[in-house]
Amino acid sequence: MFTPENEMKSMSKNNTNFSTDSNPDLQKQILIKGEEILKRMEANSKSSLFSKDYWYGSIMEMTMKNEKFKTNMFRFVDVLPSLNSGSDVHKHIKEYFSEGGEDIPSFFKMGVGLGSLAPGLMAGAIKKNVTSMAKMFITGENPQEALTVLKKARKSKLAFTVDILGEATLSEKEALDYQRRYLELIDWLAKDAETWEDIPQIDHDHEGRIPKVNVSVKMTAVFSQINDRAWDQTKSILKERLRPILKSAMEKNVFLNLDMEQYAVKHLTLEVFKELLMEPAFIGYRHFGCVIQAYLKDSYEDVQDMIQFAKKRGTPLTIRLVKGAYWDYETVDAAQKSWDVPVYTIKAESDWNYERCAILLLDHHQHIRAALASHNVRSLAAALIHAEKLSLPKNSFEIQMLYGMAEPIKKSLVEMGFRVREYAPVGELIPGMAYLVRRLLENTSNESWLRGKFADGKTTEQLLQNPSLTVSQVQLQQASVSAKKPLRFPQNYVNEPLIDFAVEAPRAELKKYLQQFKLHQTVQPVLNGQKMTSSDVFKRVNPSQKAEVVSEVQMATLEHAEKAVQNAHQAFASWKKVPATMRAEYLVKLAELMRRKRFELIATQVYEVGKPWSEADGDVAEAIDFCTYYAEHMKQLANPTKVGNAPGEVSEYIYKPRGVTAVIAPWNFPLAILTGQVVSALVTGNTVVMKPAEQSSLIAAGLMQMLTEIGIPNGVVQFLPGYGEIVGEHIVQHPLTTTIAFTGSKAVGLHILKAAAVVKEGQNHVKRCIIEMGGKNAVVIDSDADLDEAVDGVLYSAFGFSGQKCSAASRCIVLEEVYEKFADRLVEAAKSIQVSAAMDPVGYTGPVVDEEAYLRIQKTITESKAKHQLLFEAPVSTQGYFVSPTIFGNVDPKSDLAQKEIFGPVLALIKAKDMDEAITILNSTEYALTGGLFSRSPENIKKFKIEAEVGNLYVNRGITGAMVDRHPFGGYKMSGIGSKTGGPDYLKQFMEPVAVTENTLRRGFAPTENESQNDSK
Ligand SMILES: Cc1cc2nc3c(=O)[nH]c(=O)nc-3n(C[C@H](O)[C@H](O)[C@H](O)COP(=O)(O)OP(=O)(O)OC[C@H]3O[C@@H](n4cnc5c(N)ncnc54)[C@H](O)[C@@H]3O)c2cc1C
Repeated sequence: MFTPENEMKSMSKNNTNFSTDSNPDLQKQILIKGEEILKRMEANSKSSLFSKDYWYGSIMEMTMKNEKFKTNMFRFVDVLPSLNSGSDVHKHIKEYFSEGGEDIPSFFKMGVGLGSLAPGLMAGAIKKNVTSMAKMFITGENPQEALTVLKKARKSKLAFTVDILGEATLSEKEALDYQRRYLELIDWLAKDAETWEDIPQIDHDHEGRIPKVNVSVKMTAVFSQINDRAWDQTKSILKERLRPILKSAMEKNVFLNLDMEQYAVKHLTLEVFKELLMEPAFIGYRHFGCVIQAYLKDSYEDVQDMIQFAKKRGTPLTIRLVKGAYWDYETVDAAQKSWDVPVYTIKAESDWNYERCAILLLDHHQHIRAALASHNVRSLAAALIHAEKLSLPKNSFEIQMLYGMAEPIKKSLVEMGFRVREYAPVGELIPGMAYLVRRLLENTSNESWLRGKFADGKTTEQLLQNPSLTVSQVQLQQASVSAKKPLRFPQNYVNEPLIDFAVEAPRAELKKYLQQFKLHQTVQPVLNGQKMTSSDVFKRVNPSQKAEVVSEVQMATLEHAEKAVQNAHQAFASWKKVPATMRAEYLVKLAELMRRKRFELIATQVYEVGKPWSEADGDVAEAIDFCTYYAEHMKQLANPTKVGNAPGEVSEYIYKPRGVTAVIAPWNFPLAILTGQVVSALVTGNTVVMKPAEQSSLIAAGLMQMLTEIGIPNGVVQFLPGYGEIVGEHIVQHPLTTTIAFTGSKAVGLHILKAAAVVKEGQNHVKRCIIEMGGKNAVVIDSDADLDEAVDGVLYSAFGFSGQKCSAASRCIVLEEVYEKFADRLVEAAKSIQVSAAMDPVGYTGPVVDEEAYLRIQKTITESKAKHQLLFEAPVSTQGYFVSPTIFGNVDPKSDLAQKEIFGPVLALIKAKDMDEAITILNSTEYALTGGLFSRSPENIKKFKIEAEVGNLYVNRGITGAMVDRHPFGGYKMSGIGSKTGGPDYLKQFMEPVAVTENTLRRGFAPTENESQNDSK
């Protein structure tokens, strides 16, 4: 089974052995080299980043002392460039810092009104200070500005590599703009460099002249639709975009480096780099480079691989060895996805790995030029000693550091005769802030070597300690801490990881399953374990390809429905007696079987309901989550809860099953919702009549098959593929049905509630309905929102799976200050996404589910065109039920388009003058399902949390993709009734709570409390 976890395990196999290089001679030499650098630094050290004489220094000091201030400060820095007026800046200062009391720097005290200066003036002064802080790390807002700085640095024998800072690339327009900017930068610098004086220490290596101009490129900047599933297509476009840049660099004798970003694009970056460099046009050019991040567990293997590659290529290339700039992100991201963390988690592990990667690179200096990028003197000293051991000329490798950091170290190494290169970002303030926050985080981290040296006053011995020794000590400490941690559900619940399609094996496996998928599969009702036949056949076509019949469903008849309920009622008598722990075990087995059949289950969804790969995988993972979560939860609920504390009696609160449960599930989460409803009923001791949506009968048949395979006794689940109006209606009305779990439209949901309320002859219970209906979900965009994130979040929430999720965004309420900018970027982003057959991984989204949905949505679009401003619509294929993502602008919040559920890829943009109006608009529909806010104002976030009427409220993220346990899901008002799926109250709805009270007093004698408790077990 290919899971990201297994994949990572096998990749990091060789990385767990921290052999301590305790060769005392070698360690001594490293120490001496380190001391030499440190000594020189003392002489060169006039002021450091951490010097308290400066505004920046005192901010750094405060952030290192006070975690809360650190978070608020970095968040404030992040939002600052988007604030346009003094009053806006002042409002945010107050919101971020007023809780800090006396314990904040004096200028912030004034900013929040505690000082003597007028708040408006103070706001201006703070903005100026933060801007100048950014300028410490950014060489200029444009290449012209930067060049002055770079030329000055060259005079101090510091080489450079220029990088363009920018907003996240969300559209192809933005991607092409980046490509143009890189080309212009190369052109412009190369022209100017023609007149630069030759400085041998930085312009020559051991073989002769090297380019004076060195440019660093970020791959993700030049293509907005990077998509792991469509690996080859993605690579091909990336290469197409990068080729002119490489070509221009080569023609103008410029060094070109491909930077490394998040782990998610690591495999892609290395493949693209290698494939480009093997092309005939580029194979002979020696001035290309890429980056290896030593904090990655698989980086040592990557260095080995690059060495082999360089040998094969025959022309040397450069590897910049860094530790890695995204440590915090990688650890959080992996934990959120339940993936193995790709980075080392002990700082000394990264340091140790850096040293061994550096050694490996230097050992192969004939094929690879090493660029040792670090500010850590121990890391550099270890590499320098190895270079000496190999007798390498000083200029056969280089040392790189970031602009604005570690000046004394740079100077010292320049004095020692090394080639030192600065990484010099160029760009405007807004994108610059993200870069500034990364630098601030890095510099103030407890683990930072620079902080240890310049702020914490660590000793030379501590600063130059052998990292492999530290690793073993820290590992021991961590092991003892984790051994003491209690493991308690649901705190320790781990969601099923999604497939990482950046790994080749699962990609190939899914392709194979899709290619082998069999059309014309037969689906039949199953009653008491027996397949039934029916002459009423429903032909389900592939929504991506109308000509293909995916399944032929023999639709259950009224007689089948009647038998199904009777059978389930009979089976209840024995199933309810099966102990809860055993019922839970069935769910665990079901989860395991789903894991084994994962690719088959995904492929079926792709064909039957047109779910794109990742969406289908998400659905299967959620189905697994429902099994594992409810199994664990039932084990807890099965323990009677003691209530009351009166002596002489014992009272317990227990749960009992209710009887036959009718499950009427939708097609949009065809396995997840169905499984969730079925297993909830089963694990709580009920029997089930399972009626899937007509459109997803084959997927449901798969669930029935799996339930049989794991040995659920015949009769406990009855499978009724059929029409809602016929068999659905019958099981709802049936007097033996006790509980109805339904997800679908408002009209049907309300009808079921009404029908269930009527007590039929022979019925001796009140039916309980758990009903989930529609939504008209909105996302609000505040004027200070991070538009990179907002555009991305809204786009996916509105158009992922063609807007056919109950949680999908169909309204976007934008504050007027940013309306135009947001709308422009959103429309450009929408233009860049592709609608394609769900089988084709290239698509951002696929078709809608069937002809009825297609006609209904198209009708809404056509009618809306006459009434509203159409901002975006694109032509789509007619081979399937494809509907273009469609955006309307300036929509009246009271119009049908803004009030009625569409369940398709149609988004209405609505303008609001302020947050109050935005929330009023958000609350103005009859639904209350999901809602979102993109804002960086703590006050507005607080207000939204209190006032927004939605069941699931998301801040600064998309509004779809609820996960079991993390985001229990469900709405209120006309969105539904009942408690949230995947949450702590859900199972209780399938049971009756019973209070059992026993009088334990016999002739004046009552057992002690402990004895009574033991009795009850
Ligand atoms: C010229 C240059 C170019 C760069 N280019 C890139 C690039 O393309 N891509 C990129 O990602 N980075 C890049 N970096 C950034 C670089 O990764 C960081 O500046 C670097 O990580 C800081 O490391 P250090 O050796 O200077 O400092 P140190 O203080 O020794 O190391 C800090 C680093 O240790 C790692 N770390 C921190 N905590 C832990 C922990 N608990 N467990 C394990 N490891 C931990 C992190 O990587 C952190 O940044 C570049 C740096 C330079 C100097």
